[in-house]
Amino acid sequence: MAGKNKQLLRGLEQELRFLTEIGADFIFAPEESDKARPGRRPAAGKQAGAIITPAHPGPKPGKEKQEILQDLEKRILCCTLCPLSRGRTRAVPGEGDYSAALMFVGEGPGADEDIQGRPFVGRAGQLLTKIIAAMNTRRQDVYITNVVKCRPPQNRTPVREEIEKCRPYLLEQIENIAPRVIVSLGKVATDFFHPSAAGMSIQRGNFIKYGNILVMPTFHPSYLIRNEGNKAIKKLVWQDMQKVMEVLGRK
Ligand code: URA
Repeated sequence: MAGKNKQLLRGLEQELRFLTEIGADFIFAPEESDKARPGRRPAAGKQAGAIITPAHPGPKPGKEKQEILQDLEKRILCCTLCPLSRGRTRAVPGEGDYSAALMFVGEGPGADEDIQGRPFVGRAGQLLTKIIAAMNTRRQDVYITNVVKCRPPQNRTPVREEIEKCRPYLLEQIENIAPRVIVSLGKVATDFFHPSAAGMSIQRGNFIKYGNILVMPTFHPSYLIRNEGNKAIKKLVWQDMQKVMEVLGRK
């Protein structure tokens, strides 16, 4: 019983931290719909059969993997395969733990990322960092990258040719890091793994199998920022991250 209580408390603490961090102070006032239902159904991630635990492909020997990934980063830094290379300040290969069990994939670098050569360091990046912290995880313990490694002009959505030219880089990163779970942030990243005409409201929240890896589509942090006052969207992202934590045994 004591163990169960501790677990429950830890879960509540995590949720509070997440919601407070991302500015969702509404959590202190439960919604009417929540109050009115004594026999509530379990959260989506807790439903029987909702999560399939994949066989982790197993890490490559550290040194070999490090060499492959560092070599890959060098190739990305001087890539000229598509026109995005001509407008960039710096290419942004990605960063983090080469042995991470959890990987985040976004769309492409923005202005801050283009200047610093690092992924998710602007406003959306700060929010992503908070989301990762709320998951009881340190940013340096995950791997963060994008579908395209160079900034599209005026932050427009990357076009098919750009995505296709960049595709082998992300595939090589995934193959070598071999994460157990990938969180795809937004439509471009989600379509990389599972092209669909459906919007993110439909695609998010359910794991997609990508080989041995589970991909959790969720809303892009920029979407959360654009909809700052929308509590429901934040709650959905937290639900998605809880499913990820459960698969990783961090819940
Ligand atoms: N948005 C992205 O999709 N990627 C980044 O690195 C930054 C913002």
